[in-house]
Amino acid sequence: MSEYQSTKSTIDAVPKPLVENSNGAALYGLLQQLNTSQFWTAEQLAKGQLQQLKNLLSYVILHSPYYKNQFSDLDVNSLDLALFTKLPVLSRSSLQANNDSIDCTVVPAAHGKVTESMTSGSTGAPVELRATGLTATIWNAINMREHIWHKRDATQTSASIRWSANQTGMAPEGTHFNDWGSPINQFYQTGRSHYLNSGSDISAQIKWLQQLQPSYLMTHPSNLRALIDESLRRDIELPPFKEVRCVGENVTAQLRQTVRSQLNSSLVDFYSSEETGYVALQCPLLDHYHVQSESVIVEIVRDDGSACNLHEPGRILITSLRNYATPLIRYEIGDYGEFGEPCDCGRGLPVLSRINGRVRNMLHLPSGNKSWPNFGFRKMMEITPLRQFQVVQHELEKIELKLVVDEKLSPQQEAQVKKILCDNLGYPFTVNISYHSFLARSSGGKFEDFISLIEHG
Ligand SMILES: [Zn+2]
Repeated sequence: MSEYQSTKSTIDAVPKPLVENSNGAALYGLLQQLNTSQFWTAEQLAKGQLQQLKNLLSYVILHSPYYKNQFSDLDVNSLDLALFTKLPVLSRSSLQANNDSIDCTVVPAAHGKVTESMTSGSTGAPVELRATGLTATIWNAINMREHIWHKRDATQTSASIRWSANQTGMAPEGTHFNDWGSPINQFYQTGRSHYLNSGSDISAQIKWLQQLQPSYLMTHPSNLRALIDESLRRDIELPPFKEVRCVGENVTAQLRQTVRSQLNSSLVDFYSSEETGYVALQCPLLDHYHVQSESVIVEIVRDDGSACNLHEPGRILITSLRNYATPLIRYEIGDYGEFGEPCDCGRGLPVLSRINGRVRNMLHLPSGNKSWPNFGFRKMMEITPLRQFQVVQHELEKIELKLVVDEKLSPQQEAQVKKILCDNLGYPFTVNISYHSFLARSSGGKFEDFISLIEHG
């Protein structure tokens, strides 16, 4: 898959490579540009980013009430990247407190349709986010770049075992698709793809994989760990995956090593967030990550706000250069990471040598199953505004719901919230609600919205 080629176009008059619809054509153009810019020097990338940044800041000062106030003294024309690093940081709590005033009141028509979503993000504090047609197109382009970097053979079968709140795709059947879906199906005639809800029991997941024998697997790191542990315990073999792709959690060097030694396969990871889309992709040659500088500016700072040195861990700040609907400028996402030296692969895109994303533990159900917990916080927000929440499983049947709220819930509201939580967790747990003024980070520096204190076996 080293060349962009289409096997699907029917427009003979247009020379190959081809795509069959306007979305694909727009993506193809973007991919060509990304193919060039990945090899730009740091200076070339910085120049391109500064221009995008100036465009973004000029726009938000006019159209976002929050930034109009924040940047009232800023002369955008004289801005450089050094001055940029002196601008105020947008914390998660600021984003939450100013959720409406941050949004631009109008979005350029060329950016396409505005859509809204709600997220619990990395810190358990729910916020509403807006995105545009443009941000979706950029997401698709970087998604394609990721396939191309890792030279996936799209004619093969791919399987995904991921959490979904709506109980679809449970074992033993899962859900089956004729191709790999968008955007890659706009470029290639792909093989089939299959989905299983990671809420399914681990034994059932293994059986499902053995039946389908997929070449590619995508799953959560802790689910992958559970699959490998169970296959070793029962002395059964998982299919010979060409590659395992991880999503949604921190990947450790130990897990990479386990995948190499136990599965004789490679592990590919990427770093993305609901708020900003793709942030960094794993290098095609090495285990570290390249910042997607065409779309985001990533900074790593100390507690006092100064920039970290290479290999010095610090707080990750992300500026989304493309989102004019909910602009995120120097947004503190809640993850920690560190920069590394420029990569030998020749790409000028900065290197993130480590990302310490949050670890979301698995929920233990009294049936013996383990699953990815879902909380139903959107429904809870309809009962009462939650500033922050955290769910702790103390015992097999005992759950604590920690809340940060402006006003304590009434007994009736508490009962409603407990019911929503139990319905979403999938078991009638005994739930205790406790109230807090602030929910602290874990010792590793990460906020975990779910912690199971039951030892993982
Ligand atoms: Zn590289």
